[in-house]
Amino acid sequence: MPEIQKHDEKQVQDEKKEKTKKEIQKKRTQMPEQPAGERKKNFNEVALGYTKEEALLEASRCLNCKDPGCVKGCPVNVDIPGFIKLICEEDFGGAIGKIKATNSLPAVCGRVCPQESQCEAFCVLGKKGEPVAIGRLERFCADSERKNGAKVPEAPEIPVSTDKKVAVVGSGPSGLTVAADLAKLGHKVTIFESLHKAGGVLSYGIPEFRLPKEIVRQEIEYIKQLGVEFKPNYVIGRIKTLDELCEEFDAVFLGTGAGLPNFLKIEGENLNGVYSANEFLTRVNLMKAYDPEYDTVIRHGKQVVVVGGGNVAMDSARSALRLGAEQVSIVYRRGEEEMPARREEIEHAKEEGITFRLLSNPTRILEDEKFNVKAVECIKMELGEPDKSGRRSPIPKAGSEFTLPADVVIIAIGTSPNPLIFKGSEGLEQGKKGTVVAETETGATSKCGVFAGGDVVTGAATVISAMGTGKKAAKAIDEFLKQK
Ligand code: FAD
Ligand code: SF4
Repeated sequence: MPEIQKHDEKQVQDEKKEKTKKEIQKKRTQMPEQPAGERKKNFNEVALGYTKEEALLEASRCLNCKDPGCVKGCPVNVDIPGFIKLICEEDFGGAIGKIKATNSLPAVCGRVCPQESQCEAFCVLGKKGEPVAIGRLERFCADSERKNGAKVPEAPEIPVSTDKKVAVVGSGPSGLTVAADLAKLGHKVTIFESLHKAGGVLSYGIPEFRLPKEIVRQEIEYIKQLGVEFKPNYVIGRIKTLDELCEEFDAVFLGTGAGLPNFLKIEGENLNGVYSANEFLTRVNLMKAYDPEYDTVIRHGKQVVVVGGGNVAMDSARSALRLGAEQVSIVYRRGEEEMPARREEIEHAKEEGITFRLLSNPTRILEDEKFNVKAVECIKMELGEPDKSGRRSPIPKAGSEFTLPADVVIIAIGTSPNPLIFKGSEGLEQGKKGTVVAETETGATSKCGVFAGGDVVTGAATVISAMGTGKKAAKAIDEFLKQK
């Protein structure tokens, strides 16, 4: 071949390679998932996780920025470029070690964190294309560790005991984070949990098809290996008061969440077949109502109406579908843009055939002759001026009522903290919406030696924000114990 022709061919090939590289750089690597038609009939996990090849391809997109925005967007400051670089070097053990230095629940966070509004929202690649799929890579590292190694990930070496005792109330993401961080510093931690299983919303709320319970169990086992003791079926405010805990322990952390359901306060909410999302999901997840081996009672509705537009509403609707419903409708008073649920969950719900009745609000629930729910009467809404939250307020359109037939109705319009914790807790300041008042940077409450974090302080939020407040509180508790 003449030299000049050889040169041209090489140039074409180089240009092709460069073009492919640029394309890869713009678009993130897709993650395999169960097809919608199949997955809506089972409770197995929807997203299947990256293969090694897919993870390497996605990790290769990271620019290893000197001043990485992604880390600033992470509430627990994971060294994101650091762990991605280790993936590129195929050192998956090193990568998970780096993540766990600041995040004790990586398999959970890799699955349910709203990365699109946190680390990934700050990724420089997002400016001209799609950001690096940080969450998927985090999940890959956590899953590789479980697949390759022991059943339970190895715990780091624990320092000599400080002989200081800390009580943690609640075993959700905030409580687990505080407990792990304090145990790593040599303090003796006991978690008091009112339910029979640890994990908080991770165990009783988020369904198996989004977060397999075996994964939650393993992350909790890791925390047990750090020496943390769990006391299940132990309700603080009933079995023991907060004041009694303060006498027994050197410090207390309150991570009791926001598990008390809100209701619409409309006619018919007490009919048979009307559930709070909290009760419905607890029966499905914690009490395994979907598994015929368990005799948990739950109504398998054929026509289900779910009220609300957050992750809890999506989880309820998709669970009802998997229990055999023929028609599931989500009724939400604002538009899709205003929906607080993760985009991914909305898309998944749509793909599975859930109907969205947007700009609609229930006005009453209708009954049959046996006091069962028969239908939901709704009214159409339009959006007015923005309210305090910055979102446009929904206003009913007079005379636009319509009726949706229903044999199950699930109310998923938010939750509040349970006031029980205030019983027998002299001097603990309560916020306007039933929250525990605590300092943002330390979690310190009005009661000396008592700290708080997670949903009980912020109101219903996210897993990673609960973990972030837990991390800050652990640091402050350690300082407090050193001074004691
Ligand atoms: P929780 O997880 O609520 O845990 C509190 C624990 O304290 C519970 O186990 C409770 O039993 C226990 N407790 C309460 N009172 C007492 C007492 N008096 N004595 C002893 N124990 C007590 N966030 C995301 O980031 N991504 C998602 O995809 C997502 N999906 C969600 C889906 C559902 C269905 C729900 C309900 C929430 C979802 N969230 C999601 C929100 C997230 O799960 C919560 O913000 C987070 O779990 C809060 O953590 P926490 O530690 O504050 O409390
Ligand atoms: Fe990598 Fe994006 Fe973070 Fe830069 S901002 S280090 S590209 S993940």
